[in-house]
Amino acid sequence: MASIEFRNVIKRFGDVEVIPGLNLTIEHGEFVALLGPSGCGKSTSLFMLAGIYLPSGGELLFDGHLVNEVEARDRNVGIVFQSYALYPHMNVHDNILFPLRFKKTPREEALVRVKAAAELVHVGELLDRRPSELSGGQQQRVALARALVKEPQILLLDEPLSNLDATLRLTMRTEIKSLQKKLGVTTILVTHDQIEATTMADRVICMRGGGIEQVGTPDDLYLRPASLFIAGFIGSPP
Ligand code: ADP
Ligand code: MG
Repeated sequence: MASIEFRNVIKRFGDVEVIPGLNLTIEHGEFVALLGPSGCGKSTSLFMLAGIYLPSGGELLFDGHLVNEVEARDRNVGIVFQSYALYPHMNVHDNILFPLRFKKTPREEALVRVKAAAELVHVGELLDRRPSELSGGQQQRVALARALVKEPQILLLDEPLSNLDATLRLTMRTEIKSLQKKLGVTTILVTHDQIEATTMADRVICMRGGGIEQVGTPDDLYLRPASLFIAGFIGSPP
C-alpha cells in the first residue's frame, strides 16, 4: 500500500481553484521533490499533506486511510518551513520538544527523544541557546530536529535550504539526503531549485499552474523532458 495517495485532490481559495485535480502516488520511504516555478502550487500541496490546508475535493490517503478531514496535530507528519518558524522565546530544547506536547509523551521518554533528535542533526551542544543566538544553518538543523522528534511517518520540507548560503546549502543537501536514507521516512521536498530537486530526490514531480507536467527520475527529466517547459526549466540556472 502506498504511503501517500492524492486522488483528484482539489484546492480552492474562495473562487480561485489553485489545484484543479492532483493525482499522485508516493511509496513508503521514497524521497520525492515537488519542483516548479513560484506560485505553481507546491506549498499548497505540501500544506494539504501537513493538514494546514484541508482539500476542497477529491481524496487524500495516508496508508490507504482517508485524511481529508484530519487536522494537522492528529497527523503523524513533521514539517520544516522555509523560515524555520522556531519559537523565539524558547530555547532549542523546548523548540524540539514542542511537537511532543500534543502527544502526551511521558516526560522521560520525551527528553530522550529530544536529545536523540538534536544529536541526529548535530545540535546536541546547543540545547540551551535561543534561536536568535544561532546561525541560519543551526536554526535549520533545529527545525529539522523538531520535525523529526515525533518519528513522523512523513517528512515535509518546504524550501528548507533557500535561506542558507551556497556552501552550507551543498552540505545540507548531502546531509538531509543521507539522513532520509538512514531513517527511511517518506519525504516530500518542495523547491523551485532544479539542482536541489534532482540531486536530493529519487523522483521529481514537475508542477506548473497547479498541475503535474512530468513525473520522473532526475535522469528522465534531463534526458527525456516531456515538454519545452520542462526542458527550459531543468536547463536554466536556479
Ligand atoms: P508555490 O509554493 O509553488 O510557490 P503556492 O502553493 O504557495 O505556490 O501558491 C499557489 C497559488 O495559490 C498562488 O497563486 C497563491 O497566491 C495561491 N495561494 C496560496 N495560499 C493561499 C491562501 N491561503 N489564500 C489564497 N491564495 C493562496
Ligand atoms: Mg511555496
